[in-house]
Amino acid sequence: MKRKINRMFIGVTTAAILVTLLLVTFIYYEFFQRQILEDLRGYTLLAGECTSKEDMVKMGELLAQENMRLTVIDLEGVVLYDTEADSSVMDNHGDRPEIQEALKNGTGSTVRRSATLSRNTFYYADRVPSGRIIRISKDASSIYSILQSALPITGLILLLLVAVSFFIAHFLTEKFIAPIKKMAGNLDEANGATDYGTDYEELAPFLATIQEQHRNLLKSAKMRQEFTANVSHELKTPLTAITGYAELIETGMASEKDIQHFAHGIHNAATRLLTLINDTIRLSELDSGNEQIETEMLDLYKMAEENIELLQMNAGKHDVTLALHGTPCRISGNRQMIEELIYNLCDNAIRYNKEGGRVDVTVRPAGGGCELCVRDTGIGIPKEHQERIFERFYRVDKSRSKSTGGTGLGLAIVKHIVSLHGAKLQLNSEPGQGTEITVTFRSVD
Ligand code: ADP
Repeated sequence: MKRKINRMFIGVTTAAILVTLLLVTFIYYEFFQRQILEDLRGYTLLAGECTSKEDMVKMGELLAQENMRLTVIDLEGVVLYDTEADSSVMDNHGDRPEIQEALKNGTGSTVRRSATLSRNTFYYADRVPSGRIIRISKDASSIYSILQSALPITGLILLLLVAVSFFIAHFLTEKFIAPIKKMAGNLDEANGATDYGTDYEELAPFLATIQEQHRNLLKSAKMRQEFTANVSHELKTPLTAITGYAELIETGMASEKDIQHFAHGIHNAATRLLTLINDTIRLSELDSGNEQIETEMLDLYKMAEENIELLQMNAGKHDVTLALHGTPCRISGNRQMIEELIYNLCDNAIRYNKEGGRVDVTVRPAGGGCELCVRDTGIGIPKEHQERIFERFYRVDKSRSKSTGGTGLGLAIVKHIVSLHGAKLQLNSEPGQGTEITVTFRSVD
């Protein structure tokens, strides 16, 4: 990147210098040409004042000292006098463009290039009232020879400027890249773009984004590590129980009555293992799936009805009354996920209830969409735990959760499903009074 910026900078600078030099030379040469023709015009006016031949010869000698040539021509083009050649042997000048122009308009001028391109001859002709044409010419360097003679000094200046621009480019790119280099070295420690020591405020959001992405990556890596550690820990307890019971049976230390008890223990632990594995798989499925989920039109009320039917027996076991209220309401959602969501919320409301308690599920239209509200008269959740119960494996009362077959993953799954559906989750809970969890789905269109 650095080399590329350097090369570009030098390239642009060199091109700019060359174009400027050429333009300046052309403009300067244009002025130079105009000035020469202006000078020649002055001299022809002066020569036109000469009335006698001697005056004209004197004038011609003076002009010759200044490297100018004077020619006097009559209106037929015949050369009457010339400072450089014998006028009697000179051919007719009537066809020269400047003479033709002077015959027509009173004055005329031309620039003729020499064969070598190195010199130009400037001609200025003026028709004087005495019926003659006075022409004065002068040789001057052509633009090519000016460019050629200026080449060494131009080249030197160019080299100097390129060297200067090389240093500037080097300095600028170093300065530009320094915060990026610095950031790469201390992505974790730097706090905000100012820490990278950059003057470029445009770079700050870019650096901040990279840093945030880096932090997110670290955070999710840490979370995954914690999750794996938690899963392993959770798996260990039922497996230890299973191994323990099996060992007791294997060594023949258990009586007939104990065996039945141990088998029950093994059964419980194995069921727990299965639930845990299922929940873990489900969470990782939800994690790895992309943001786009397969949806269909669902009647939330009908689905709640079906789920409640399934859970009635469970509610009966806990001496809890489970009832559904509300009206049919359509949402766009993933059937399996919505089933899981309703099941998990109702299951929790039953498990964390009190004997003789109630669970009321309400489905109704709200805010253009649908609202699912699960309210229980259970033990409630203390304020300080309310924020965290949606985290994986977070449980207010670990033993109660375990004894009722909880894994600590149910609400984490709920939160995931809610966010995949773009829905909103709200929790209201009062310890000792009960809990109310409301999920609001967006309108179908
Ligand atoms: P678990 O499998 O332990 O029930 P969840 O993720 O479903 O895991 O819930 C996390 C914790 O939140 C539970 O352990 C419990 O302490 C608390 N909780 C969830 N729902 C309720 C509720 N309806 N009433 C009281 N506490 C609840």
